[in-house]
Amino acid sequence: MSMEIPEGMQLINSEGRRLDGRRPDELRPIKIEAGVLRRADGSAYVEMGKNKILAAVYGPRECHPRHLQDPTRAIVQCNYSMLSFSVDERKRPGPDRRSIEISKIIGEALEHVIFLEQFPRTSIDVYIAVLQANAGTRCAGLTAASVALADAGIPMRDLVPACAAGKIAGKVVLDLMKEEDNYGEADLPLAYIPRTGEILLLQMDGHMTQEEFERAIELAKGGCMKIYELQKEALRRRYSVAADEAMLREETREV
Ligand code: ADP
Repeated sequence: MSMEIPEGMQLINSEGRRLDGRRPDELRPIKIEAGVLRRADGSAYVEMGKNKILAAVYGPRECHPRHLQDPTRAIVQCNYSMLSFSVDERKRPGPDRRSIEISKIIGEALEHVIFLEQFPRTSIDVYIAVLQANAGTRCAGLTAASVALADAGIPMRDLVPACAAGKIAGKVVLDLMKEEDNYGEADLPLAYIPRTGEILLLQMDGHMTQEEFERAIELAKGGCMKIYELQKEALRRRYSVAADEAMLREETREV
Protein backbone atom coordinates (compact mmCIF):
# COMPACT_ATOMS: atom_id res chain seq x y z
CA MET A 1 0.00 0.00 0.00
CA SER A 2 1.20 3.50 -0.88
CA MET A 3 4.61 2.57 -2.28
CA GLU A 4 5.91 5.26 -4.62
CA ILE A 5 4.38 4.67 -8.02
CA PRO A 6 6.90 4.05 -10.86
CA GLU A 7 7.16 6.85 -13.42
CA GLY A 8 4.79 6.45 -16.34
CA MET A 9 2.54 3.91 -14.59
CA GLN A 10 -1.12 4.87 -14.70
CA LEU A 11 -3.30 2.85 -12.37
CA ILE A 12 -6.38 4.20 -14.16
CA ASN A 13 -6.03 5.52 -17.71
CA SER A 14 -7.93 8.29 -19.45
CA GLU A 15 -10.61 5.81 -20.54
CA GLY A 16 -11.17 4.74 -16.96
CA ARG A 17 -9.46 1.36 -17.49
CA ARG A 18 -7.08 -0.28 -15.03
CA LEU A 19 -3.65 -1.84 -15.72
CA ASP A 20 -5.21 -5.12 -16.85
CA GLY A 21 -8.01 -3.40 -18.78
CA ARG A 22 -10.68 -3.85 -16.09
CA ARG A 23 -13.30 -1.26 -15.23
CA PRO A 24 -13.44 -0.07 -11.61
CA ASP A 25 -16.26 -2.47 -10.67
CA GLU A 26 -14.87 -5.60 -12.36
CA LEU A 27 -13.48 -8.71 -10.68
CA ARG A 28 -10.49 -10.53 -12.12
CA PRO A 29 -11.34 -13.74 -14.02
CA ILE A 30 -12.25 -16.45 -11.50
CA LYS A 31 -12.13 -20.22 -11.75
CA ILE A 32 -13.36 -22.51 -8.98
CA GLU A 33 -13.12 -26.28 -8.90
CA ALA A 34 -14.33 -28.53 -6.08
CA GLY A 35 -12.94 -31.94 -5.12
CA VAL A 36 -9.47 -31.74 -6.64
CA LEU A 37 -7.54 -33.81 -4.06
CA ARG A 38 -8.07 -37.49 -3.36
CA ARG A 39 -6.66 -37.78 0.17
CA ALA A 40 -8.47 -34.87 1.72
CA ASP A 41 -12.08 -35.15 2.96
CA GLY A 42 -12.87 -32.05 0.93
CA SER A 43 -10.89 -29.77 -1.36
CA ALA A 44 -11.07 -26.89 -3.79
CA TYR A 45 -8.87 -25.02 -6.22
CA VAL A 46 -9.38 -21.32 -6.92
CA GLU A 47 -7.82 -18.98 -9.46
CA MET A 48 -8.56 -15.30 -9.09
CA GLY A 49 -6.56 -13.42 -11.67
CA LYS A 50 -2.99 -14.58 -11.11
CA ASN A 51 -3.73 -16.01 -7.64
CA LYS A 52 -3.66 -19.81 -7.53
CA ILE A 53 -4.88 -21.37 -4.33
CA LEU A 54 -5.56 -24.88 -3.03
CA ALA A 55 -7.69 -25.63 0.02
CA ALA A 56 -7.92 -29.01 1.74
CA VAL A 57 -10.20 -29.96 4.62
CA TYR A 58 -9.86 -32.87 7.05
CA GLY A 59 -12.42 -33.83 9.67
CA PRO A 60 -14.31 -33.53 11.82
CA ARG A 61 -11.62 -35.71 13.42
CA GLU A 62 -10.03 -36.27 16.81
CA CYS A 63 -8.67 -32.99 18.07
CA HIS A 64 -4.88 -32.62 18.36
CA PRO A 65 -3.40 -31.14 20.46
CA ARG A 66 -5.79 -32.64 23.03
CA HIS A 67 -5.85 -29.60 25.31
CA LEU A 68 -7.65 -27.62 22.59
CA GLN A 69 -10.60 -30.04 22.64
CA ASP A 70 -13.96 -28.46 23.44
CA PRO A 71 -16.52 -30.85 24.98
CA THR A 72 -19.39 -28.81 23.53
CA ARG A 73 -18.33 -28.26 19.94
CA ALA A 74 -15.77 -28.70 17.18
CA ILE A 75 -12.91 -26.28 16.76
CA VAL A 76 -11.60 -25.03 13.42
CA GLN A 77 -7.82 -25.10 12.95
CA CYS A 78 -6.82 -23.15 9.89
CA ASN A 79 -3.39 -23.06 8.33
CA TYR A 80 -2.74 -20.53 5.57
CA SER A 81 0.65 -20.73 3.94
CA MET A 82 2.30 -19.03 1.01
CA LEU A 83 4.70 -21.38 -0.74
CA SER A 84 8.28 -20.24 -1.38
CA PHE A 85 7.71 -20.00 -5.14
CA SER A 86 4.38 -18.15 -4.88
CA VAL A 87 5.91 -14.66 -5.05
CA ASP A 88 8.58 -12.95 -7.20
CA GLU A 89 11.36 -13.15 -4.64
CA ARG A 90 11.67 -16.56 -2.96
CA LYS A 91 9.63 -16.34 0.23
CA ARG A 92 11.16 -17.73 3.40
CA PRO A 93 9.26 -20.94 4.09
CA GLY A 94 7.28 -21.45 7.27
CA PRO A 95 4.90 -19.37 9.34
CA ASP A 96 5.42 -15.62 9.75
CA ARG A 97 3.33 -12.93 11.43
CA ARG A 98 1.26 -12.37 8.33
CA SER A 99 0.34 -16.02 7.75
CA ILE A 100 -0.48 -16.51 11.44
CA GLU A 101 -2.84 -13.51 11.25
CA ILE A 102 -4.50 -14.71 8.05
CA SER A 103 -4.91 -18.25 9.42
CA LYS A 104 -6.62 -16.79 12.49
CA ILE A 105 -9.07 -14.52 10.68
CA ILE A 106 -10.04 -17.14 8.08
CA GLY A 107 -10.53 -19.76 10.81
CA GLU A 108 -12.73 -17.37 12.79
CA ALA A 109 -14.85 -16.50 9.74
CA LEU A 110 -15.40 -20.23 9.07
CA GLU A 111 -16.30 -20.90 12.73
CA HIS A 112 -19.24 -18.56 12.28
CA VAL A 113 -20.82 -20.60 9.50
CA ILE A 114 -20.08 -24.22 10.49
CA PHE A 115 -22.54 -26.02 12.80
CA LEU A 116 -19.79 -26.72 15.32
CA GLU A 117 -22.12 -28.03 18.05
CA GLN A 118 -22.82 -31.11 15.95
CA PHE A 119 -19.26 -32.39 16.43
CA PRO A 120 -18.13 -31.99 20.06
CA ARG A 121 -14.47 -32.72 20.93
CA THR A 122 -13.37 -32.76 17.29
CA SER A 123 -11.25 -30.57 15.09
CA ILE A 124 -11.97 -29.46 11.55
CA ASP A 125 -8.63 -28.80 9.91
CA VAL A 126 -8.42 -26.40 6.99
CA TYR A 127 -5.22 -26.04 4.97
CA ILE A 128 -4.84 -23.22 2.48
CA ALA A 129 -1.78 -23.27 0.22
CA VAL A 130 -1.05 -20.26 -1.95
CA LEU A 131 0.75 -21.59 -5.03
CA GLN A 132 0.88 -18.20 -6.73
CA ALA A 133 0.12 -14.84 -5.11
CA ASN A 134 -1.00 -11.60 -6.69
CA ALA A 135 -2.86 -9.74 -3.91
CA GLY A 136 -6.21 -10.76 -2.48
CA THR A 137 -5.05 -14.19 -1.36
CA ARG A 138 -6.82 -14.10 2.02
CA CYS A 139 -10.13 -13.58 0.18
CA ALA A 140 -9.45 -16.20 -2.48
CA GLY A 141 -8.24 -18.53 0.31
CA LEU A 142 -11.47 -18.12 2.26
CA THR A 143 -13.54 -18.56 -0.91
CA ALA A 144 -11.66 -21.82 -1.59
CA ALA A 145 -11.85 -23.05 2.01
CA SER A 146 -15.62 -22.77 2.20
CA VAL A 147 -16.04 -24.73 -1.05
CA ALA A 148 -13.67 -27.38 0.35
CA LEU A 149 -15.77 -27.58 3.55
CA ALA A 150 -18.94 -28.05 1.51
CA ASP A 151 -17.12 -30.69 -0.56
CA ALA A 152 -16.25 -32.48 2.70
CA GLY A 153 -19.97 -32.54 3.55
CA ILE A 154 -19.50 -30.44 6.67
CA PRO A 155 -22.81 -28.77 7.59
CA MET A 156 -22.66 -24.98 7.26
CA ARG A 157 -25.15 -22.16 7.32
CA ASP A 158 -23.87 -21.08 3.91
CA LEU A 159 -20.87 -20.73 1.63
CA VAL A 160 -18.53 -17.81 2.29
CA PRO A 161 -17.52 -15.74 -0.73
CA ALA A 162 -14.85 -13.11 -0.17
CA CYS A 163 -13.21 -10.35 -2.17
CA ALA A 164 -11.57 -6.99 -1.62
CA ALA A 165 -12.34 -3.48 -2.74
CA GLY A 166 -9.96 -0.56 -2.40
CA LYS A 167 -8.85 2.84 -3.58
CA ILE A 168 -6.37 3.49 -6.38
CA ALA A 169 -5.54 6.77 -8.10
CA GLY A 170 -8.27 8.44 -6.04
CA LYS A 171 -10.98 6.03 -7.18
CA VAL A 172 -12.78 3.20 -5.38
CA VAL A 173 -12.34 -0.08 -7.29
CA LEU A 174 -13.10 -3.78 -6.90
CA ASP A 175 -10.57 -6.60 -6.36
CA LEU A 176 -7.06 -5.08 -6.31
CA MET A 177 -4.26 -6.89 -8.10
CA LYS A 178 -0.65 -6.71 -6.91
CA GLU A 179 0.41 -3.39 -8.53
CA GLU A 180 -2.82 -1.77 -7.36
CA ASP A 181 -2.24 -3.10 -3.86
CA ASN A 182 1.34 -1.76 -3.89
CA TYR A 183 0.70 1.68 -5.33
CA GLY A 184 -2.91 2.27 -4.28
CA GLU A 185 -4.27 4.15 -1.30
CA ALA A 186 -6.42 1.53 0.45
CA ASP A 187 -7.39 -2.15 0.44
CA LEU A 188 -10.48 -3.56 2.14
CA PRO A 189 -10.96 -7.34 2.16
CA LEU A 190 -14.50 -8.46 2.93
CA ALA A 191 -16.38 -11.76 3.31
CA TYR A 192 -20.12 -11.58 3.01
CA ILE A 193 -23.06 -13.98 2.88
CA PRO A 194 -25.50 -12.63 0.29
CA ARG A 195 -28.44 -14.70 1.61
CA THR A 196 -28.32 -13.33 5.15
CA GLY A 197 -26.47 -10.07 4.63
CA GLU A 198 -23.88 -10.97 7.28
CA ILE A 199 -20.34 -9.61 7.04
CA LEU A 200 -17.97 -12.31 8.30
CA LEU A 201 -14.65 -10.61 7.70
CA LEU A 202 -13.72 -6.99 7.25
CA GLN A 203 -10.25 -5.50 7.37
CA MET A 204 -8.76 -2.32 6.02
CA ASP A 205 -5.29 -1.15 5.14
CA GLY A 206 -4.70 2.50 4.12
CA HIS A 207 -7.03 5.49 4.16
CA MET A 208 -10.46 6.31 2.75
CA THR A 209 -13.15 8.85 3.51
CA GLN A 210 -16.40 7.64 5.07
CA GLU A 211 -18.10 7.95 1.68
CA GLU A 212 -15.37 5.95 -0.09
CA PHE A 213 -15.51 3.34 2.66
CA GLU A 214 -19.25 2.86 2.15
CA ARG A 215 -18.80 2.63 -1.61
CA ALA A 216 -15.99 0.08 -1.15
CA ILE A 217 -18.23 -2.07 1.06
CA GLU A 218 -20.99 -1.97 -1.56
CA LEU A 219 -18.56 -2.88 -4.36
CA ALA A 220 -17.05 -5.76 -2.37
CA LYS A 221 -20.52 -7.07 -1.50
CA GLY A 222 -21.39 -7.05 -5.23
CA GLY A 223 -18.18 -8.98 -5.96
CA CYS A 224 -19.08 -11.52 -3.26
CA MET A 225 -22.47 -12.10 -4.86
CA LYS A 226 -20.80 -13.02 -8.15
CA ILE A 227 -18.27 -15.29 -6.44
CA TYR A 228 -21.09 -16.96 -4.47
CA GLU A 229 -22.74 -18.03 -7.74
CA LEU A 230 -19.42 -19.46 -9.00
CA GLN A 231 -18.95 -21.38 -5.73
CA LYS A 232 -22.39 -22.95 -6.05
CA GLU A 233 -21.76 -23.81 -9.71
CA ALA A 234 -18.45 -25.50 -8.81
CA LEU A 235 -20.22 -27.68 -6.23
CA ARG A 236 -23.04 -28.53 -8.63
CA ARG A 237 -20.45 -29.58 -11.24
CA ARG A 238 -18.61 -31.66 -8.66
CA TYR A 239 -21.73 -33.50 -7.57
CA SER A 240 -23.03 -34.14 -11.07
CA VAL A 241 -19.65 -35.72 -11.92
CA ALA A 242 -19.71 -37.73 -8.68
CA ALA A 243 -23.24 -38.92 -9.44
CA ASP A 244 -22.27 -39.88 -13.01
CA GLU A 245 -19.29 -41.87 -11.70
CA ALA A 246 -21.45 -43.68 -9.14
CA MET A 247 -23.98 -44.54 -11.83
CA LEU A 248 -21.21 -45.84 -14.09
CA ARG A 249 -19.86 -48.03 -11.27
CA GLU A 250 -23.36 -49.34 -10.66
CA GLU A 251 -23.82 -50.15 -14.37
CA THR A 252 -20.48 -51.94 -14.67
CA ARG A 253 -21.30 -54.03 -11.61
CA GLU A 254 -24.53 -55.19 -13.23
CA VAL A 255 -22.81 -56.34 -16.43
P1 ADP B 1 -3.54 -10.53 0.51
O1 ADP B 1 -2.81 -11.55 -0.31
O2 ADP B 1 -4.70 -11.12 1.26
O3 ADP B 1 -3.91 -9.32 -0.28
P2 ADP B 1 -1.52 -8.84 1.72
O4 ADP B 1 -2.23 -7.56 1.48
O5 ADP B 1 -0.76 -9.00 3.01
O6 ADP B 1 -2.54 -10.08 1.66
O7 ADP B 1 -0.49 -9.13 0.55
C1 ADP B 1 -0.69 -8.66 -0.74
C2 ADP B 1 0.19 -9.39 -1.70
O8 ADP B 1 1.56 -9.08 -1.44
C3 ADP B 1 0.13 -10.91 -1.64
O9 ADP B 1 -0.98 -11.45 -2.30
C4 ADP B 1 1.42 -11.27 -2.31
O10 ADP B 1 1.30 -11.15 -3.73
C5 ADP B 1 2.37 -10.18 -1.81
N1 ADP B 1 3.14 -10.64 -0.63
C6 ADP B 1 2.69 -10.85 0.60
N2 ADP B 1 3.66 -11.31 1.42
C7 ADP B 1 4.77 -11.40 0.68
C8 ADP B 1 6.13 -11.80 0.91
N3 ADP B 1 6.55 -12.23 2.12
N4 ADP B 1 6.99 -11.75 -0.13
C9 ADP B 1 6.61 -11.31 -1.35
N5 ADP B 1 5.35 -10.91 -1.63
C10 ADP B 1 4.43 -10.96 -0.65
